[in-house]
Amino acid sequence: MGIEGAVILLREVRVFLSGLRRELPEIFLRPTFFSAVPPAVPVPVRVRRAGPKDAVRELFESRVKHWSVLMGFAPKRVFLKNQRTLWGSCSTRGNLNFNRALADAPAEIVDYVVIHELAHLKEMNHSRRFWAVVEAWCPQQKQRRLWLRRNVSLLKHLASSSRSRTPVVS
Ligand SMILES: [Zn+2]
Repeated sequence: MGIEGAVILLREVRVFLSGLRRELPEIFLRPTFFSAVPPAVPVPVRVRRAGPKDAVRELFESRVKHWSVLMGFAPKRVFLKNQRTLWGSCSTRGNLNFNRALADAPAEIVDYVVIHELAHLKEMNHSRRFWAVVEAWCPQQKQRRLWLRRNVSLLKHLASSSRSRTPVVS
């Protein structure tokens, strides 16, 4: 194709695009394509990064980030603990704590606990309004809670055995 051919082709592309703009103006308005407008709910998740990479921390960071963006509110910080009695908790300062033992649970259980604690950023109680927020994002919350109640000892066992695993000389 010579230069004239290219000019003709370019002209045709322009005619095509202006026709498209008339007929489907909305596709030219999509901010992600044509401007640097940020997405609707940019929720920064500030998480403490200390020490070497930690798979459990990465799991919770990514799930908190995922659900924060969807739910529209984010914690100040995320802490991981080896708690004896709680799977997760939310402080009045807006920080979330998660039990490391949860990392061995199925993904949907981790997500339920993350959703539960994020919902406390909005409702600092276990009122009907709180459960409505949880239910909106996790309609299976009752099954998830039941699973957790039934598998407490399994998760604790998995967590303790992974901590005490040591190399053996054979
Ligand atoms: Zn709670």
